[in-house]
Amino acid sequence: MTTIADRLTHAHQRINQAAQKSSRNHDEIQLLAVSKTKPIEQIVAAYKAGQRLFGENYVQEGESKIIALKADYPDIEWHFIGPLQSNKTKTIAENFDWMHTLSREKIALRLNEQRPSHLAPLKVCIQVNVSQEQSKSGVSADEIAPLAKLIDSLPNLELRGLMAIPTATDDIEIQHAELQKMQRLFESLKQSYAKLDTLSMGMSNDLEQAIASGSTMVRIGSAIFGSRN
Ligand SMILES: *Cc1c(COP(=O)(O)O)cnc(C)c1O
Repeated sequence: MTTIADRLTHAHQRINQAAQKSSRNHDEIQLLAVSKTKPIEQIVAAYKAGQRLFGENYVQEGESKIIALKADYPDIEWHFIGPLQSNKTKTIAENFDWMHTLSREKIALRLNEQRPSHLAPLKVCIQVNVSQEQSKSGVSADEIAPLAKLIDSLPNLELRGLMAIPTATDDIEIQHAELQKMQRLFESLKQSYAKLDTLSMGMSNDLEQAIASGSTMVRIGSAIFGSRN
């Protein structure tokens, strides 16, 4: 039987090989374990195998996992990676360490206002709709700069970079074009904000390609926890 620890080891091997292929240092690439829909026991199993960064997509589910695990595992870093309605911002502001899917000024303002003062600023990535599909959330390329400027002015948010969910496709050229576009947008934003260090892209099926295009954080779910129902 393959355990979560085995699958984590394998995911790290894939990251290391992809980094080597692009002449990058694998230390630049973090593994975010996406535990959405998976039970707490599986998060604990991954934790015991050394994993510390976990990503959740659903506000309520994420909150209850954080509350359940906070006392025993205070060094878990919790990342919110799902779509967010403005009436749920308080739960994110009060519980999570990171928010990857920021794409609206109104949400940025609310998160800033609702972040408790005893917590470090919420680390955020701006989600970019790189495929420009109507159904997908995220800002367009020319909306990045004004949103970044707003976030940068808010004391309880800390801008760390960009996030994208490229088109799910087997077409290598489309995939490559979108990943390369994200890399260019990230490099260009870094000209204005030197401290940015996070390009959140790459999932179980495309982490190698994402790393070749400069990803610094891959979000891996099914390759660690198995497929979701
Ligand atoms: C579910 C999810 C992932 C993980 O996807 P896998 O294909 O299971 O690795 C990564 N990012 C986001 C935004 C997700 O919703």
